[in-house]
Amino acid sequence: MNEEKLCAEVENNSPHSVKKRIRNDIILVLAIILFASIALLVMLALRSEGGAAVVTVNGKPYASLPLDKDAELIIQGEDGGYNILVIKDGEAYIREADCPDKICVKHRRISYSGETIVCLPNGVSVKIEGSGGGVDAVS
Ligand SMILES: [Zn+2]
Repeated sequence: MNEEKLCAEVENNSPHSVKKRIRNDIILVLAIILFASIALLVMLALRSEGGAAVVTVNGKPYASLPLDKDAELIIQGEDGGYNILVIKDGEAYIREADCPDKICVKHRRISYSGETIVCLPNGVSVKIEGSGGGVDAVS
């Protein structure tokens, strides 16, 4: 009699507790996802904060554009060449250039401190510099 009652209780309880456990797991996973996205957002905000694209032509300072403002700049190279620098969504890239190799145009967009796009034929260099200045070891 007693044993039967115990069995019935276990059978009744177990599906309920499994459901409860699954619900707890979902809450845990959601909490982790939420935490991860907040951490990612904070990291992205910190990384792009105050960053600027610093342009030099033949090693001489030419211009400095803040990354948080969309812009377009025609860089006049020393020998009459040009590069069109675009700042968009916190990233910098060369949209157009008259150099023969077009390496600068093909270069992926840059946005992190220390990243550079160089156009050797025109002597143009675009470097990302952050306000923090800590992550400048990449060279
Ligand atoms: Zn180029």
